[in-house]
Amino acid sequence: MGENHLLKTLHPIWLERVIQSMTKSASVSEDLRGQLDQFYSLLVQSVETSDPSCLDPVILGWAESLTQSDLEGDTSNLTEFLNELILLTFNIYRETLDEIQTVEVIGTILPAFTFAYQRAAKYEIIAHSGYKSNQLIETQQALERLEKSKSDFIAVAAHELKTPLTLIEGYAYMLCESHKEVSPQSSEMQLLNGVRNGIVRLRSIVDDMIDVSMIDNNLLSLNFQPVWLNRLFTLLQIELKDSLNERQQVLTIESFPASDDLSFGDPERLLQVFRNILMNAIKYTPDCGNICIDGRKLPGFIEVTISDTGIGIDPEDQDIIFDKFTRLTSTSLHSSGKTKFKGGGPGLGLYIAKGIVESHGGAIWAESPGYDEKDLPGSIFHVLLPLRADSPDQKMAKLFEPLTHFRSAKGHVETQ
Ligand code: ADP
Repeated sequence: MGENHLLKTLHPIWLERVIQSMTKSASVSEDLRGQLDQFYSLLVQSVETSDPSCLDPVILGWAESLTQSDLEGDTSNLTEFLNELILLTFNIYRETLDEIQTVEVIGTILPAFTFAYQRAAKYEIIAHSGYKSNQLIETQQALERLEKSKSDFIAVAAHELKTPLTLIEGYAYMLCESHKEVSPQSSEMQLLNGVRNGIVRLRSIVDDMIDVSMIDNNLLSLNFQPVWLNRLFTLLQIELKDSLNERQQVLTIESFPASDDLSFGDPERLLQVFRNILMNAIKYTPDCGNICIDGRKLPGFIEVTISDTGIGIDPEDQDIIFDKFTRLTSTSLHSSGKTKFKGGGPGLGLYIAKGIVESHGGAIWAESPGYDEKDLPGSIFHVLLPLRADSPDQKMAKLFEPLTHFRSAKGHVETQ
C-alpha cells in the first residue's frame, strides 16, 4: 500500500485518538473536531501535492483564535499544541503500523509538519508582539491621561489657592503693620511674623505650581528684554547673602567672555533659573562649601556653569532630577527650609528651570562624578542660552532699537 493511501486510511483513527487525548470537555471536542479533521485532510493533500503551503490557512486561523489569556503569559500555546499533535501522530503511526511502514509514513509527512511548526511559530510571534505593542499603546495612553489630569489638578489647585492666599497675605500684612507701631517686641508680633513667613513659603509653592502648569501646557510666555547675565548674578549674590552667611559658604562669580554682553531674554525668568540652581547648590553643599558661577562664550550661545562642592548626584539620577516632583532618596528630607543642608523642597525647582531655559531656546543639564556625602564630589549645572541680538517680540525690538544700534556700532555683541 502506498504512503498516501496509508495516510488516508489512518485519518479516522488519527482523529478519534487525537480528540480523545487532547480534549476533556465534549463541547470543545466538537468544536475542535472539524478543525482537526480539516488539518489532517490538508496534511494528506500537502503530501499528495508536495506543497505544504495548503496548511497555511488553518495554522493562521489557529493563531488568530489565540485568546487574550493565551497571549498574556510568555508561553507558546500554538507551537506547544502543534508539538503535542506531532508527537501524538507519530505514536498513533507506531501503534497502528509495522516498523517499516511507520518510518516511511513519518518520512513522508515530516516536511508538512516542519512547515506547519515554522508557520505556527511565526504567527505566534506576530500575535504576541501585536498584543504587547497594543498593551504598550494602552499603557502610554493611560499614562498620558494620568499626566493630563495631574497637570489639570495642579493648575486648578494652584489657582484656587491663590485667591484666599492673597486675602490672608493682605490681612496678615495689615495686622503686622498695626502691631509693629504699638508693640513691636510683643509675643503677638512674633506669632504674626511666623504667620507671614509661612505665607511667603506657601506663596512660593503656589507660584511654582502655577509655573509648572504653564510649562506643562506650553503657556509660559517670555517677556524679552535686554539682559546682562553678570547683573543677574550680582543681584542673586545680594539676595542670597544671608543664606550664604548662615551656611558659611562662599559664592564666587567669575567674569567670563560675554557675561557682560547685552542679550535678549526674560530677566525675571532667568533670575528664577539661576536662583533655583543656586539655592540647590547652597542646600546640597555642607557648611563652609564653595559655589562658583563661571562660563564661556560659544558661537551664538553663552554657557553658564554653576559648580558646588556638595554631595553630588549619581549619574543615573542626572536626568531625572529635571522631572517634576523628583526627590532623590539620597537627599531625603533631613530638615525643611529653603537653604538648610539637604532641606526638603517640592521637587519643582529644576523642572521649572528646564522649562524656562528651553523656552529661551537653550538647554540645561547636570554633571557630577556621583553622590558621596563623605568625599563631596560636587555637581556642575550647565545652562546654555542663545545670545540674542534682538528681541523676538517686534514691539520690544522696536522699543530697544536705540540700545541695540548703539551696541552694534560698538561691535560689542556677536549676533546669532
Ligand atoms: P527640590 O525642591 O527637591 O530641591 P529641585 O527640582 O530643585 O527640587 O531638585 C530636584 C532634586 O535634585 C533635589 O531633590 C536633589 O536631590 C537634586 N539636586 C538638585 N541640585 C543638586 C545639587 N547641587 N547637588 C546635589 N543634588 C542636587
